Amino acid sequence: RIIMINVSKLKKGIVLDHITQGHGYKVFEQLGLDKLDDVVVLMRNVDSKKMGKKDLIKIETDLKLDFDVLGLIDPGISVTYVSDGVPVKKLHLTLPETVTGILTCKNPRCITNVEKIDEITFRLVDPDKKQYACEYCDARTSL
Ligand code: ZN
Repeated sequence: RIIMINVSKLKKGIVLDHITQGHGYKVFEQLGLDKLDDVVVLMRNVDSKKMGKKDLIKIETDLKLDFDVLGLIDPGISVTYVSDGVPVKKLHLTLPETVTGILTCKNPRCITNVEKIDEITFRLVDPDKKQYACEYCDARTSL
């Protein structure tokens, strides 16, 4: 028996499109979508003219998304807000200038690795290489 789920028409919610193939589940987890009571659909290996294959997520709710997390995982993701079945707002992600509490410092002698410091802020120093510098020791971390 096949259960048909209509995922093509979203009345109200958010579509995360152009997710790099294979990253869909990571995005799903990082945004905590598994904890939502709302309808969330993760589609993997969807045909894409631009990308060959892509992943895609549809969320049937007004969720406040953490764009810093999204931008870090996959800056190529496009975010579309849907209302009454039509797209009302479209966002393109970029790498955030600073990120707090997401990255950890790779320098073993950094104070953040000696003491338990959770909320470390990293600032973007090289967008092409996706490099961030630790606020405490300035060591660079690539994504
Ligand atoms: Zn550091």
